[in-house]
Amino acid sequence: AQERYASIRDLPARSKCGTEIQLHMNAGLMADLPSLESCGALGVGLFRTELQFLVRNKMPRRAELVALYRRVMDAAKGKRVAFRTLDIGSDKVLPYMKPNDEPNPAMGWRAIRVGLDKPGVLRMQLQALIRAANGEPLTVMFPFITLRSEFRDAKAEMDKVLAREQKLGNPLPSKIEVGAMLETPSLGFAPESFYQEVDFISVGGNDLKQFFYAADRENERVRKRYDTLNVSFLSYLEMVVGRCEKSNTPISFCGEDAGRPIEAICFAALGFRSLSMRPASVGPVKHLLRQVDLSEVKSVINKARESGEQSVRTAVSDYLLDQA
Ligand code: PEP
Ligand code: MG
Repeated sequence: AQERYASIRDLPARSKCGTEIQLHMNAGLMADLPSLESCGALGVGLFRTELQFLVRNKMPRRAELVALYRRVMDAAKGKRVAFRTLDIGSDKVLPYMKPNDEPNPAMGWRAIRVGLDKPGVLRMQLQALIRAANGEPLTVMFPFITLRSEFRDAKAEMDKVLAREQKLGNPLPSKIEVGAMLETPSLGFAPESFYQEVDFISVGGNDLKQFFYAADRENERVRKRYDTLNVSFLSYLEMVVGRCEKSNTPISFCGEDAGRPIEAICFAALGFRSLSMRPASVGPVKHLLRQVDLSEVKSVINKARESGEQSVRTAVSDYLLDQA
């Protein structure tokens, strides 16, 4: 199988019906970067910056962060890296930060909520990313955006930092993309202006699913009851894709489900044109994608929905097996 994936590594992830899906990989540590070349991903669709904070025993200094991000960009050799700003709290607690005793950390003071309430670290991180980019393009995304105003406020932090860097005479990125992670159902219903303001949306399916189904992602017992290919969840995703299409906003899916071939095919059939996954999944997803006709998968999904199925999994799996 490994050889089969290696043989398609440099081929596009193009479906039988001619639709090209961009496949990116998720990363978080320097050690992940060599996979970029070996797995054939087009770029890093999600770089979880908190991992580099989690493996230390004290808060990194700005200069260290600049060097770290520069090394990531160098290792990516010009491929796009979407740096997700710190997502701490919830399951990721920094050893050198006072734990805040919350009954529900996943729904508590985490991610961009911390970044906006205590902007010191967020600003330091943005400044480090800009300095690391050193005049090259930069892509940043904010985690756990739930309201339009949170995106606006986070973007305003970015603008402030950019203005400051310019004043200091430091080179600004030649191009800057600022995106939001959609990880809570509410953002899907945000006002139209949100979709116009954001440079791109990345669906964090792990968190989104946990909140869509009110089922803790860490708790197998409840998590397993709810299928990703449940028609309600797919209809929600389809609505968000539709809103993005309307405002020409690129959208990508970067939760773990993007790396599961059947899920990936369904997301592509619903209109996702970009997926980000663990490196080992890029080959298998591309392999399957190259063999399917997405419009046919879409009809299978629609038929299953119309006939009242709760999940489209059986219908899509049966269809794929018939094709094999
Ligand atoms: C997600 O929630 O799907 C996601 C990509 O972020 P994380 O898994 O780091 O929470
Ligand atoms: Mg998340």
